[in-house]
Amino acid sequence: MAEHDKEELDEIAAHGNVEAGGGGRKAGVKCPFCGHLDDKVIDSREGRTGDTIRRRRECLKCERRFTTYERIDEIPYMVIKKDGRRERF
Ligand SMILES: [Zn+2]
Repeated sequence: MAEHDKEELDEIAAHGNVEAGGGGRKAGVKCPFCGHLDDKVIDSREGRTGDTIRRRRECLKCERRFTTYERIDEIPYMVIKKDGRRERF
């Protein structure tokens, strides 16, 4: 179990790097220490249930580190069965 977890996290981290290197969109968060708007994501991983993403960030100005949590709005994953019943996915 522990080994599997590690593999999964490596994969997510690699994906995060690709995203950051793309340079397309800025997902900067205001630094809680100095208020600077540029930061880099140094690590990101999914929460236990997969519906939150925790990102370790480092402020590009003061270089202090902080964590942000991204959470998907409650989207009920509903499956509509053939007989019309809805079930939570
Ligand atoms: Zn800062």
